[in-house]
Amino acid sequence: MITEVKGYCFQDENLTNTVLMWIKELAHNNLNWDYDDDEINLQDSNFIPFNEGDLCFRVYPEGYMYNDIGTLDKHRARINREKIGKYENITHWFAPNEEKWHYMLELPYGGKATCMWCGREYSEPDREEFVFCENCDPSTRCSYCGNYMREEDGYYIDDYDGLICSECLDYECGIDDLTDETHINSNLDYIEWLIGYDEDNNPIFYDEGIWVYHPKENYKYKELFSNPPKSMNHYYRNHQYITVDDIIDKSEFEDVFRLDDDIENVIVEYTQKTITE
Ligand SMILES: [Zn+2]
Ligand SMILES: [Zn+2]
Repeated sequence: MITEVKGYCFQDENLTNTVLMWIKELAHNNLNWDYDDDEINLQDSNFIPFNEGDLCFRVYPEGYMYNDIGTLDKHRARINREKIGKYENITHWFAPNEEKWHYMLELPYGGKATCMWCGREYSEPDREEFVFCENCDPSTRCSYCGNYMREEDGYYIDDYDGLICSECLDYECGIDDLTDETHINSNLDYIEWLIGYDEDNNPIFYDEGIWVYHPKENYKYKELFSNPPKSMNHYYRNHQYITVDDIIDKSEFEDVFRLDDDIENVIVEYTQKTITE
């Protein structure tokens, strides 16, 4: 088979045409191999007439070599019918509805990757998109998920002595409500504000809590609260909380917990709510 993979670095129909025709002619002149005049598109799963039946293709990457098969909607190709008939990766079955044979040609495309720097062959699933082996790779790894990325695409967060990738930034990170800095979600503590207790002695927490990175060392937390968060188990859940007594500056605290009203009013309101409910 002769096929276009990807016009690179210029995608030009005429150039691709010319090169495909050259190869077809060279194969005819030098090897006596003849390719169809009609082109097919390898990305179609359509059948084409073949040996009084129909033929389709399955092209798939193999061996983790960098390759561009599958990156375009169209890979124009010509087949050599005589050669294809002898190829071992062809399977066939009888399609009773159509009363004819169907053939499928499997074309594993690729092979082992070869490092463009040191020439070493390697076969690593997570390095399919790279042209360097791990030792020679100038790119870097995400400190959280370990995926490779370009250094300039990484983000620095305090949680690590390295960079994290944009996907981890979007899906695995949150913001510390006190410092506005970004951190890995699992490193953020959810801190609630304990408003009081109801008649049955159940704790009442304010609707909204805050996320804080390492509250015990967090400079902003220390500015706002005089004690580290306490914890209690209630309804099978562990709550980390603060109380009014822990608050140093009530005016700033109101911003942090997004209170519409004074703290005292919020507390009174909650107490009344619990009594009426
Ligand atoms: Zn290498
Ligand atoms: Zn990542």
